[in-house]
Amino acid sequence: MDLITLWLEEKLLALNGTTTMNRPDGFTRLGFSLEEKKAHSQFAEIAEELGLITYQDEAGNRWAVWEVDQQAPTIAMGSHLDTVHSGGGYDGLAGVLCALAAVKQLKDCAFRPKKNIAVISFISEESARFGISTIGSKAIIGELHKAELAPIQDSDGITVTQAMEDYGIDWDRIEQAEVPRENLEFFLELHIEQGSILEKNHYDIGVVKGIACPIRLIIRAQGTANHTGTTPMDERKDAFVAIAPLVTFVYEEALKMNENNGSTIVATVSKATLKPNAMNVIPSEVELGIDIRSVDDDLKRIMKEKIIDFCQQVEQKHPVTVEVQTLVNNDSVLLDEAMQTKLLQVSERLGYKTMRMDSGAGHDVMNMAKRWPSGLLFIPCRDGLSHHPKEFTSIENLEKGTHVLVEFLRTEA
Ligand SMILES: [Zn+2]
Repeated sequence: MDLITLWLEEKLLALNGTTTMNRPDGFTRLGFSLEEKKAHSQFAEIAEELGLITYQDEAGNRWAVWEVDQQAPTIAMGSHLDTVHSGGGYDGLAGVLCALAAVKQLKDCAFRPKKNIAVISFISEESARFGISTIGSKAIIGELHKAELAPIQDSDGITVTQAMEDYGIDWDRIEQAEVPRENLEFFLELHIEQGSILEKNHYDIGVVKGIACPIRLIIRAQGTANHTGTTPMDERKDAFVAIAPLVTFVYEEALKMNENNGSTIVATVSKATLKPNAMNVIPSEVELGIDIRSVDDDLKRIMKEKIIDFCQQVEQKHPVTVEVQTLVNNDSVLLDEAMQTKLLQVSERLGYKTMRMDSGAGHDVMNMAKRWPSGLLFIPCRDGLSHHPKEFTSIENLEKGTHVLVEFLRTEA
C-alpha cells in the first residue's frame, strides 16, 4: 500500500478522535466545543510533525504554516473540523486532511516552495450550534460583527461570547483575526461534494465555478376565518385556497427556467404555516417560506419578480391580501476563473475525470473569495449523504484530492 494511503487512514482517525469511522451516532463536534478544540489540537500536532509552525489566531482559527521566507507571499488552503449534531467525519475534515497530506507529499519529495504555504483549520463553520455559519472565515475577512454576534445563544442558553471565552478566545480581540489582503495570495478549499452528481456520473474531481446563495421569501396571505359548515362557498375569504396555486407555480416556473437557460435555478416552497389550522375553520392566514438558489443572481431576481406578480394576481382574483417579504438576499459567490482553469488542467493531467460544477451549499471559501482569488475542489461522497453518520468518502477519493492539491502547488507555490 502507498505510504500516503496509510498516512491518510491514520490521520483521518486521529483528527476525528476515533479508532473507527464506522460509528452509528456519527461525530458531534459543535463550534467552540471541547470536541472541536481537541480536533484543533490534533491538527496542530500533525502539522508540527510535518515541521509546520502552528498558532491560533484571535478568533480561534488554527493556522499551520510552512514558512520558507518571511518576505515571500503566502498561499493558503484549508477547511473546518467542526460538525453538526451526529454528523459525518468527512465534511470539512477531508479538506483539512488533504491539505496537510499535500504538504507531507511535497516535503517527502523534497519540493522547495518559493512561497509560504498555510493550512487553515477554520473555527465553527457549521451553523448547528448558534444558527450562524462560517464564524472563523468571517473573522479572517473582517466581517464578524461583534454587536450582532454577542447576544446569540445556543440551545443551552450559552452566548457566543461565553462559548468563545470558554474556548480560550479573548472576545475583546476577535476582530484582530482579520488578515489584510496583501498577506495572502490565494485560497483553495477541498470539500466532499455533499451531493451525488460526481458519484452518479463517475467523476473523480469537481472544480467549482460558484456557490449558489439564496434569496428567501416569506409570503403572507391574509383572509378571514369563519365556520366551515355555515359559510357559503361564494362568501369565503379562504387564504389557503387563494395562495395554494403558488406552490405549483414556483415548481413549474423553476422547471421552465432551467429549460431555457444554460444556468440552473432551484426554487422550493419549503415551509408552510396555516392559521388557525383547525378542522372546522376556514384558514384565515397562510405563511409560506420560499428558498431560491442559483449562482446566477439575475435568475434568482427574475424568479422573485414572477412570484411577486403571481401574488398580485392572487389579490385580484381572491378577497385576500398577500404580502411578500424578503428575508434573505445574498449574492452568489463566483470563484476565480483562472484558478478554475488551472485546477481543471492539473486534475485532467493526472488522468482524473473532472467536471466544472456549482455548489448548492456554502463553505468557508465563499468568505475567503471576497478578499482573495479562491478555488474550491469537490471529491465524491457516497450517495450524496452528508450531515449524517453514514457520510462517507473513500481513502482513494481523499488521495485523488490530495494529488490535485500537490500538483497545483507544484506549479503555484
Ligand atoms: Zn463543510
